[in-house]
Amino acid sequence: MKAGEEAEAARKEELRMIVEMIDASMALAVKKGKHPLTNGCGCIVCAERRKQLIRAPEPEWKYFL
Ligand SMILES: [Zn+2]
Repeated sequence: MKAGEEAEAARKEELRMIVEMIDASMALAVKKGKHPLTNGCGCIVCAERRKQLIRAPEPEWKYFL
C-alpha cells in the first residue's frame, strides 16, 4: 500500500468511527427518551446541549424534544 493510500484509509477509518459514535449517541438518546442535561451522559441531545452552552452562556431554548 502506498503512503497516500494509507493516509486515505486512515481518514476513512476515522470518519467511520465518528459516524459510529454519532449513531451510538443517537441510539442512546432514543433509548433514554426525554431527559434533562446529564453530566457525563453521552447521548446526542446532551452533547448538543453542552455545545450550545459553550457557544452561548445563557441560551434561550426555543425548541423542546
Ligand atoms: Zn443525555
